[in-house]
Amino acid sequence: MKLELTKRIEQIALDLTSQLSVLDTPDEILIAEKVYSIMSEMKYFKAHPENLYFVPVKGDKLGRKSVVAIVNGEKKPSDKTVVMIGHIDTVGISDYGPLAEYANQPLVLTEKFKEIELPAQVKKDLESGEYLFGRGIFDMKSGDAIIMALMEMISDDIENFEGNLIYGAVCDEEGNSGGMLNVVPELCRLQDEKKYDYLALLDTDYMTEEYEGDENKYVYVGTVGKLMPTFFVVGKETHVGESFKGIDPNQIAAEITRRINLNPEFSDVAEGEVTLPPVTLKQRDLKPEYSVQIAKTAVVFFNYATHCSTPDQVLDKMVKAGQECFQNVVDMLNERYEKFCEMAHRPFHKLPWEARTMTYHQLCEVVKAEVGEEFDAKVQAYAEELAKDETIDARDRNTHLVEFVHGMWSDKNPVLIVYFSQPYYPHIYIKGDEPKEKALLDAVADAVDTTKTDYKLVYKKFFPYISDLSYGAAPREDGIIEAFMENMPGYGTVYNLPMKEMQRLNLPVLDIGSFGKDAHKFTERIEKKYTFEVAPELVYKTVMNLLK
Ligand SMILES: [Zn+2]
Repeated sequence: MKLELTKRIEQIALDLTSQLSVLDTPDEILIAEKVYSIMSEMKYFKAHPENLYFVPVKGDKLGRKSVVAIVNGEKKPSDKTVVMIGHIDTVGISDYGPLAEYANQPLVLTEKFKEIELPAQVKKDLESGEYLFGRGIFDMKSGDAIIMALMEMISDDIENFEGNLIYGAVCDEEGNSGGMLNVVPELCRLQDEKKYDYLALLDTDYMTEEYEGDENKYVYVGTVGKLMPTFFVVGKETHVGESFKGIDPNQIAAEITRRINLNPEFSDVAEGEVTLPPVTLKQRDLKPEYSVQIAKTAVVFFNYATHCSTPDQVLDKMVKAGQECFQNVVDMLNERYEKFCEMAHRPFHKLPWEARTMTYHQLCEVVKAEVGEEFDAKVQAYAEELAKDETIDARDRNTHLVEFVHGMWSDKNPVLIVYFSQPYYPHIYIKGDEPKEKALLDAVADAVDTTKTDYKLVYKKFFPYISDLSYGAAPREDGIIEAFMENMPGYGTVYNLPMKEMQRLNLPVLDIGSFGKDAHKFTERIEKKYTFEVAPELVYKTVMNLLK
């Protein structure tokens, strides 16, 4: 890449980093304004100010906004369009401790680090002079700088450029993706108005070692997804003095964790690439107070990464595993009770528990059959009430709805209810059987093959970190999204995705990022040479290949 461009990317990266933009603070607005102001100084946007504008996050308390910038080539009319995104928010800065005031000044911070004790690898990188430190410089303001500088370079010579580029600088990525979720409908609107033919969605979020000492530099086509399957366990309460008369939901929850947690049986494998197995993000009973009565209900949920399993398939697997766990607990309790009766010289009668598991949707059906037509209105009213209450964690809204629906049911016997908690990030698997997918795979392969560098470039399927890329598409096959919506309590009210727009965009996605280490740590840093020279070349070539 030309030296000028390399320098310009570094300059923009430092400029963006100088404006703090911690998630959920008013600084997120200032960084959007900074991006806007840098872009508005470019020759092209001076001539076409209408192609640069803000997209607000609807209903956002802070009034956050994303920036959209559009470049239309003038060589020949073309509908071919590449969409690029980069998030402009970062995580907080308290991890910098006494150096927090320098977190946004990479040049100063890198000097200050020379005066303190650091882990050996960090020290080595620092002393090499090849790295720059700072909050957000790696995740992902250098990535934004790559897109911005390339758009500037391309649009400076707009008469010789054929095709269109759209850049979405999005806020709230480290939070609830409010930026991207509002940019997605805007992309659909633009498509209607300008008849753009979107070829791909390219993110320049960071890339790092996959294991210690990993020499590869990766380009990822497609992205991992995430679901949060959740178990609501209804046991039978009892006094501790009569403990065998109850069934402890904690015991069932514990069995579910034992069965599913970090179990590779639930890993998704696609083209040899394996997701990390599910991991619990919460397991607790829902008894608010201390008493000598055992708990009645418990909840356990998992972070479940996907490469190919759809929500309906994950739900099936979870229902099966849950039923197995419930049965295990019933069997074990009978064994233990029999032994206890023997020791205490009492007659043994089999415990009355029957293992049963159902989905939230199935629960709604049986309860609706009992309650009648007003069921839907009641659930809706409660969902609206929950949505308004800002003191409740988003996931608890889903759980409260399950509790509410179960509370209307006359059947109070133990049961396991399986549903999804928010959020949902669809995976995007680029197989290459559709023309756009094939074109993307070819474009990336060519970019990687023709880039001369000492780095070992590798292109892989599935960007391994949860990101806004997931919102570039959604499953379109019948029943999949319905299974998800029906089984996320309060979907549409306590949680919402622009699902129709995502399905319509149906974009193949990829990530070509800056290289560095320690995202979300105070030692966050980029390696300058790869980030400012190699990654931009890969992005540029991929974009040009796509538009060819
Ligand atoms: Zn990021």
